[in-house]
Amino acid sequence: MTQHVQFDVAVVGGGMVGAVLAVALSQAKFSVALIEAQQPDSFDPQGEFDLRQSAIAPGPRRVLSNLGIWDTVAAQRICPFTGMKVWDAGQTDELFLEHTAIGLPELGHIVENGLIVDAAWQQLANVDVYCPALLASLSIKPDFARLTLDDESEITARLVVGAEGANSAVRQAVGIPTTGWGYGQRCTVGAVTTERHHRHIAWQRFTETGPVAFLPLADGRCSLAWHADDALAAELKELEHDAFCERLTEASAGVLGRVQKMDRRAAFPLKLMHAQRYCDARVALAGDAAHVLHPMAGQGVNLGLLDVAELVCALEAGRAAGADAGELVYLRRYQRARMAENLMMLGATDGLKRLFGSRNPLLRHLRGLAVDSASRLSPIRQIMIHHAVGLSTDGAPLLR
Ligand SMILES: Cc1cc2nc3c(=O)[nH]c(=O)nc-3n(C[C@H](O)[C@H](O)[C@H](O)COP(=O)(O)OP(=O)(O)OC[C@H]3O[C@@H](n4cnc5c(N)ncnc54)[C@H](O)[C@@H]3O)c2cc1C
Repeated sequence: MTQHVQFDVAVVGGGMVGAVLAVALSQAKFSVALIEAQQPDSFDPQGEFDLRQSAIAPGPRRVLSNLGIWDTVAAQRICPFTGMKVWDAGQTDELFLEHTAIGLPELGHIVENGLIVDAAWQQLANVDVYCPALLASLSIKPDFARLTLDDESEITARLVVGAEGANSAVRQAVGIPTTGWGYGQRCTVGAVTTERHHRHIAWQRFTETGPVAFLPLADGRCSLAWHADDALAAELKELEHDAFCERLTEASAGVLGRVQKMDRRAAFPLKLMHAQRYCDARVALAGDAAHVLHPMAGQGVNLGLLDVAELVCALEAGRAAGADAGELVYLRRYQRARMAENLMMLGATDGLKRLFGSRNPLLRHLRGLAVDSASRLSPIRQIMIHHAVGLSTDGAPLLR
């Protein structure tokens, strides 16, 4: 007897990547189930800023625009940034990247993670949402995947996508190995009030214990991303408010004057992780389930959104050729479209982390040269900006 398969695709994880993927697949007329562990909070425009913010680049933003998600996001308190200034503590050279170099009105927008999730969830009308629900077990059959949830209900789908973050249950269930390492660093985040306005510039100062970044927020404050070695991060956690602000003023070299206020803060451990495959029979991985990188270049969710665009494109190509959604040949097409680019970005941020985090005099000299040549040579600057803003990839329809 043939098994009745309920869905074309079951997406596990309804964070930024999983929810956007579910919207994209449903708009492409695939039948979709979304399984998410926690009901996301509705975005409250009067509430405190989300501690987690992301710099969304113009390329990946097109994915959100094409799906009608960006209109909802853009109606809220997001902040465009037109320049990015990067400099090394103890060196005089600095790198200033400007939006004019790519002919766009901005280099990107700082957006609260919760806002992106909420805007995507508003578009799930044609998706069967299982929430709160955890994937308890997964079995892969030749023609479909069977998912058992923690309330013992079962779902069948031609394809299961693991989009449930770095500890992907799908990836673990099918045994896709990963490579990676911890950085022995944490990133302290939160909204800070500085003496001077950010002027819509993202500021990043590299110190030997990690970069300190001020990202512009719509109300004139900045979103802090202070990447620090574990020992320093632990010390920072214990500091009282005024002492923390003083240390931050020092670490940012007072680039925006004195740091006056920071209401809430949290710290996240940093690591690099890459799945050796993004697909197997009836399985695909997307977003942090497939790759996690150091956040200093603000690329994680940007890469995840590009994954969404290419995965939907590959599944549509399969359907046009008469294949079902889980056929490996089309999943491999998705993997080919994304893996090299993701690895390049993982390698670049890992290299930057090592180059700028070293006390070795030779490497210090090298990084001075690197900043100097990048700031003087406009072709290098152009390439850097194009990759940083996600405009180097434009194959999939959702990216056009
Ligand atoms: C400090 C910091 C700053 C960053 N800044 C940036 C930035 O500026 N720009 C940028 O592009 N990226 C940035 N990133 C990276 C970005 O946050 C991640 O790449 C992004 O959150 C990944 O999204 P995701 O949807 O793949 O995974 P997640 O955000 O981890 O979402 C996974 C979802 O799956 C759910 N889930 C987990 N397990 C299960 C299960 N078993 N069953 C059902 N549901 C499950 C979770 O509840 C969650 O909703 C930053 C990261 C850090 C740590």
